[in-house]
Amino acid sequence: MAQRVEGRRVLHVDMDAFYASVEMLDFPELRGKPLLVGSDRPRGVVAAASYEARKFGCRSAQPMAVAKRHCPSAVVVFPRMARYQEMSERVFAILESFSPLVEPLSIDEAFLELTGTERLLGPAPEVARAIKDRVRGETGLTASVGVAPNKFLAKIASDLEKPDGLVVVEEGDVDRVLLPLPVERLWGVGPKTAARLHEMGFHRVGDLRALDEARLRERFGEAGAHFFLLCRGRDERPVVPVGEAKSLGSENTFEEDVEDPAEVRAVLLEHVETVARRLRRHGLRARGVSLKIRYGKFETITRAATLPEGTDVTAALWKCAASIFDRWAGEGFRPVRLIGMTAGHIETGPRQGSLFPDTEERRQKRLDEALDEIQARFGTRTIHRGPGSD
Ligand SMILES: [Mg+2]
Repeated sequence: MAQRVEGRRVLHVDMDAFYASVEMLDFPELRGKPLLVGSDRPRGVVAAASYEARKFGCRSAQPMAVAKRHCPSAVVVFPRMARYQEMSERVFAILESFSPLVEPLSIDEAFLELTGTERLLGPAPEVARAIKDRVRGETGLTASVGVAPNKFLAKIASDLEKPDGLVVVEEGDVDRVLLPLPVERLWGVGPKTAARLHEMGFHRVGDLRALDEARLRERFGEAGAHFFLLCRGRDERPVVPVGEAKSLGSENTFEEDVEDPAEVRAVLLEHVETVARRLRRHGLRARGVSLKIRYGKFETITRAATLPEGTDVTAALWKCAASIFDRWAGEGFRPVRLIGMTAGHIETGPRQGSLFPDTEERRQKRLDEALDEIQARFGTRTIHRGPGSD
């Protein structure tokens, strides 16, 4: 575990009702209405609910049928993942202009380590304000930001005054903020652990303080030691930026099994493009490519391949990903529920040899640069490469 750092400053940035807000941004006629993003099909679930819909008891991960019972007047729109991904990249570019230490937590959430940046950037709450302003100015979306001495508290803080919140939690506020929260809010407490805690009579974070570390360990093993620290507001996990991450990936779950291999392949190409663009933006290269495929009755496989050397060229990563996919599909394609691609064996620093003959390499790099520029300038996926083999 990392050393305890005095005066640590961590930000948690969380976009407000992200998918729903993007829809309202693009389609102003939806603004102010209860909006559900997700599939309206029989087994569809809510991917995001606007704040107007939440007033009726709708929330994400709810079955769509239940949400519509809560709010029959809600407008339902189908998710446009490529558009959310693109907005996400714009938000992350803003965050990365403030600190190189940005750890993505999901498509619309990140931690920033600001410890030691005060002389350069100013006090953390002012940085938080500046981030909110730039996100609003450049994307038209709002973010809620928590400022705290560690990741756990920053994440709690960002949620306290959503939407458009800015909450600073200092060491002295920890008990006031933390003790009344339900135990489910502790990092690592899932439904199973929560049920066990409830059985033991522990409902609030404050209740857990009655247990000493040995008893928590006895009941929950290693996780118990973390709960002991977390319920006291202590968390020393470092912020791990993308550049130091061991892998970088993109995946999606389909609302229903996709029966056409070509359709799955086209979505896989989008994931490869996203990952490759992120590699380039961070000056990284990957030597490993792995695919995650879920099909049938939630059977999930991972298949990986290694490239002779690290690359950030979309065509090279796609060639590798497509061959893994085609081999799997060739052995007996089954309708796919989830598809994802992860780039592993990440490298930094100057590259060694070359995967392509020089002219081909230059051509591919120019193509990547041109597409990256279009993406950055217009922020839309106007141009795609075809899902051929390269
Ligand atoms: Mg969010």
